[in-house]
Amino acid sequence: MEKTKLKKSNLPLSGLASELYREIAKIPVVDAHEHLPREKERCDKKIDVTTLFSHYCKGDLEASGLLQGPEQEEFFDTSKPLMKRWKKAKPYLEAIRYGSYAYPAFAYVRDILGIDDINEKTVEVISKRLQADNQKGIYKKIIQDICNIECSIQCKTDEVENDQDFFYYLCLDKATNINSKEDIIAFEKTNDVCIYKLKDYVNALRSFVAKQKKAGSVGLKIAAAYDRSIEFPEVPASEAEKIFAKLRAKVSGVISTAETEMLGNYLIRREIEACIDNNLPVVIHTGYQAGNRNDIRNARAIHLWSLLASYPKARFDLFHGSFPYVEDMVVLGKYFENVSLNMCWMHIMSPEISRRALSEWLDAVPVTKIFAFGGDYSVPEKIYGHLQLARMNVAVVLADKILQGRMVESNALRIARLVFNENPKQWYKMNKTFLFQL
Ligand SMILES: [Zn+2]
Repeated sequence: MEKTKLKKSNLPLSGLASELYREIAKIPVVDAHEHLPREKERCDKKIDVTTLFSHYCKGDLEASGLLQGPEQEEFFDTSKPLMKRWKKAKPYLEAIRYGSYAYPAFAYVRDILGIDDINEKTVEVISKRLQADNQKGIYKKIIQDICNIECSIQCKTDEVENDQDFFYYLCLDKATNINSKEDIIAFEKTNDVCIYKLKDYVNALRSFVAKQKKAGSVGLKIAAAYDRSIEFPEVPASEAEKIFAKLRAKVSGVISTAETEMLGNYLIRREIEACIDNNLPVVIHTGYQAGNRNDIRNARAIHLWSLLASYPKARFDLFHGSFPYVEDMVVLGKYFENVSLNMCWMHIMSPEISRRALSEWLDAVPVTKIFAFGGDYSVPEKIYGHLQLARMNVAVVLADKILQGRMVESNALRIARLVFNENPKQWYKMNKTFLFQL
């Protein structure tokens, strides 16, 4: 795969924004959030053009009428003949092709494979090219050589592994949303301890956090917004103990949703305290949840106010700008010195909303607290188009600030370097001095 420079004609930018874009593209990027599988796992899979529409595009395909489940799985089944699958899904693909979730598929094919469009005439050749490139070394080629990404933070579900020397890892909170006795037993096994009472569970939680830090995690991610409100009020220990005892005592212990939330409120706070003790940053998902039919009301960042106010010593990286309620972040970024605003995933959810967010945040929040990019992808090829949108957004917003007389071009490029590189690098202390073992 050759390193392909973006052709000027491909850019919908002109004048100052276009000039800024070209300079911004030279800045090495710290990619502040990804979900890539290990490279070997990716290379062992047969891929084709439909792979470019997997991950987030699945949600848009569902919204257009191609429901997730067997109907959609058939489209992504690369063991079946391609053309038949492509033709069957065509009406849905046409419906989503102009959206920003689909944009990175078209950008990669256009700029990297040099093929103008994805259609019936090109899907076979695109598939062959993608599969031919799907071999050892593909991550470095796409991420570092093509995208000019210096390093990236991967969200890991299991063990930390040094898959690429430019990868860092975030660990996942998996122990605070418990509602069955089996959850406790699973956590006992993970940590090789016996848990009888709530205090045993909290001790196990503390050693889990310490172990993750020692293993090299640069942060702990809380994705509770997928399951519940992200308001986490303090719960008295006596209340939490009662709920935990109920859960532990029953043969097949199950507690109510309200009790699960209360116990979760207690445990999340203890986990954050463990993060403070271990100097481990806390990452919190805010805003839109992947998939479909979730409850956005749970996920607005403003719900976090009491938690953030309680822990001035914790360091919080708030993901996704509370999308689409990006104004919530203006308040939190202004109130709390220990909060940073991470634009990962945002530019593909909506470039327009992302530009508005960035412009408002630059007005209201110290520039040192904004991270401009995280691909948030499990499909490496799509990082390219996402990063292109991010660079265009930053260029357009900064050009506008220059035209408003708020800064000159050299200031704008300094800001671009901060938001794309220095801010996340310093915040996450990315210096590769850790062990990759649990
Ligand atoms: Zn993510």
